[in-house]
Amino acid sequence: MKNLARELMVRPGKKTDLDSIDPAETFGFKKEEAAAIVAANRARLCELQNVLYADRRFALLIVLQALDAGGKDGTIRHVMSGMNPQGCEVTSFKVPSVEESEHDYLWRIHRAVPRRGMIGIFNRSHYEEVLVVRVHNLVEKKVWKTRYEQINEFERLLTENNIHILKFYLHTSKDEQRERFIQRLQDPMAHWKVSLADYKERDYWDEYRVAYHDALNKCSTKHAPWYVIPADRKWFRNAAVSQIIVDELESLKLRYPKPSIEMDQIPDEFRGSEHGGARGK
Ligand code: AMP
Ligand code: MG
Repeated sequence: MKNLARELMVRPGKKTDLDSIDPAETFGFKKEEAAAIVAANRARLCELQNVLYADRRFALLIVLQALDAGGKDGTIRHVMSGMNPQGCEVTSFKVPSVEESEHDYLWRIHRAVPRRGMIGIFNRSHYEEVLVVRVHNLVEKKVWKTRYEQINEFERLLTENNIHILKFYLHTSKDEQRERFIQRLQDPMAHWKVSLADYKERDYWDEYRVAYHDALNKCSTKHAPWYVIPADRKWFRNAAVSQIIVDELESLKLRYPKPSIEMDQIPDEFRGSEHGGARGK
């Protein structure tokens, strides 16, 4: 799946047109194949996360954006299961609280950025500030227009401090959203997810499309690229996201730190045979 990451990346400086990307695209992968990839990546992620945690040089920040029923929760569940909860934190960004809105819009975001050693997942993010905020005119155009550059600079600050960033836009079709809304109504365990606002937001589909187009194209940078994940097929989505995360962590060349003590300081009875300790006797 390696080359797939390149295929899905929004190339900095080049225009990606969402309308030219089929949300049901699977690049020839079959469902069973994708499930095997997800399973293998899950095991690998578990190992990589362990080294990331021990290494403490880097953090990984994963940003997930999508329209309602786009699959953010499902992606987190599928891809991240198997990770050590101690090294992983998920933050969901909702309508800002009074305190949050009295600060600059990046304040709550910066506080939630993972410390080195950790994987942080943003379920929605600072991008809402150029998405929902733009679509609903929550601030004036002259205000949201300045945010693309501010976001790029903020992300540059993070990456220059060893916080690696992967941003995923889960690209679903309007038909698939309708299907998922219907399924939610039929599934008693998913009823709680249904909100009237979702149906209203659906009326703004085209406006969101334009806002996403700008966010993806203006804010896909070399240091913090956007990936457009065709997400109508959940199994493809999971395979693609997990592969890109694994590739990114692999590229960090993570390593376990050297022990902070000399082995021969440790009492004999605790040392294995290779150190001439108890087991060798
Ligand atoms: P959900 O993710 O379904 O729990 O919904 C969270 C809601 O909070 C969505 O409708 C988002 O659009 C909204 N939201 C998140 N961030 C912001 C923001 N910065 N300004 C306004 N609304 C936001
Ligand atoms: Mg919702």
